[in-house]
Amino acid sequence: MSHRTAIVTGAARGIGAEVAARLADDGLAVAVLDLDEGACQAVVERITAAGGKAIAVGADVADEAAVQAAVERVAAELGAPTVLVNNAGIIRDNLLFKMTTDDWDAVMDVHLRGAFLMSRAVQAYQTKEGWGRIINLSSTSALGNRGQVNYSAAKAGMQGLTKTLAIELGKFGVTANAVAPGFIATEMTEATAERVGVSFDDFKAAVAKEVPVQRAGVPADIAHAVSFFASDGAGYVSGQVLYVAGGPKA
Ligand code: NAP
Repeated sequence: MSHRTAIVTGAARGIGAEVAARLADDGLAVAVLDLDEGACQAVVERITAAGGKAIAVGADVADEAAVQAAVERVAAELGAPTVLVNNAGIIRDNLLFKMTTDDWDAVMDVHLRGAFLMSRAVQAYQTKEGWGRIINLSSTSALGNRGQVNYSAAKAGMQGLTKTLAIELGKFGVTANAVAPGFIATEMTEATAERVGVSFDDFKAAVAKEVPVQRAGVPADIAHAVSFFASDGAGYVSGQVLYVAGGPKA
């Protein structure tokens, strides 16, 4: 994979940071993309300290012009981006009757519009190369989750997007798959614990009791699944949704 370039969105921290580091370990040059370019620097340093190649790229995935410029910059500095991980995400949880239109729009913009814009920009390079991998972050919330009417709709949407990308891009050697995590300990889930008034340790302990493997997930669990979908050997796996949730009940 040493000649390949990946873009990981939302990679300044959490799952995205771990995915970026894992793909770099796999031999890819990695664009660490997030809203704040400076915030990506620590991940770039982690990768380069381990002997990998990475650059920090600041862009809002929901901004069409910024996405186009970011993808062109990656192509110029690292080579044609043929692996794309649509990981950037936000939550704006509330019960339906309290959810604002802004909360709905913000979540749709980052997850769905963001994944659409990034995929459309990157496919130009993938189809030209005749090889590509798109990996989208869905969630167990796609199956429904109280207080997340916006997020669950977006994460279910990511699954439809994935399957259609797989159908349209397959003939160009491009696969598209989704990873749907259960509970993963990151700043996102830490914020949820804070919102419901529970300490993060108690929150994780409560999750562990419900999960068959008896622990909360960690970003490396997701990075491992992404690494598989990004690999050369996974070329006959496309349009799939892999739940990574410590058990069969998503
Ligand atoms: P996180 O710690 O909150 O990290 C998300 C990253 O995305 C942040 O660095 C954030 O930047 C960035 N981001 C937000 N909006 C963006 C935008 N418009 N453009 C570019 N970057 C943007 O979240 P995480 O827990 O690692 O989650 C990563 C992905 O996995 C998300 O898609 C999430 O929905 C999904 N997921 C997570 C879990 C879980 O349990 N953690 C479970 C299922 C699915 P800022 O810091 O600047 O906001």
